Amino acid sequence: MASEDAPTLGLRRDDRAAHMQRVREREEEILSAEYRASVDERALAVLLPANPDRTRLVNMALQAPTRTKSITWLRKAADRLSQAVGNEVACRRGCDACCYLDVAVSKAEAESIGRAIGRKPVESPATAIAVSSDLNEPHEYPNRHLGKPCTFLRDSECSIHADRPLVCRLHANFDRDNLLCQIVPGETISVPYVDTSIEKAVYHAKVAAGGMVADIRDWFPALPPQG
Ligand code: SF4
Repeated sequence: MASEDAPTLGLRRDDRAAHMQRVREREEEILSAEYRASVDERALAVLLPANPDRTRLVNMALQAPTRTKSITWLRKAADRLSQAVGNEVACRRGCDACCYLDVAVSKAEAESIGRAIGRKPVESPATAIAVSSDLNEPHEYPNRHLGKPCTFLRDSECSIHADRPLVCRLHANFDRDNLLCQIVPGETISVPYVDTSIEKAVYHAKVAAGGMVADIRDWFPALPPQG
């Protein structure tokens, strides 16, 4: 359930009903065989040329000797993917819908971000979970901030864009606009995200497994206003 900070919470009851009607109509459309075929066709057209680079970069991440180096290669792979799908997705500057989702970040990645932005992450957030190093074990990442703005969101833009977490780089919606990205408390909405399961699997295996994972808001809590 999203918190009171969720971006669509200001909707009046009538507005919410109208919004949800549009959402359900769009969902029906994206789940149709015709729409899925058109997404597959568009995805193939933009991803085929990018996939050799993407595969090479993901392999570099797999072979990297440290978690930090794996993160570096995965970021390059994610950026190559974003570049490839850029004209086909709903994601645009000024859209901050993803910044109200949970943002799972490993300790190694939090430390890497911290070094880049000059701020130490919390040493051991109370909400962090230990991720098994046994890759056969099912895993769940923390899930408790849905609907709350990310610590680093400023005026609908990411204030650490160059250093943002991998999961933020991997979010992309293959729809024509961000209608389905809007959080509506109490509602589950399907979004035709670009398939980034390969990058996420490598992140889990090489960066998260055997360590701690917490939400970015717990590694970097909002600082009290200055002055
Ligand atoms: S790190 Fe940046 S892109 Fe990621 S959720 Fe926070 S504000 Fe959004």
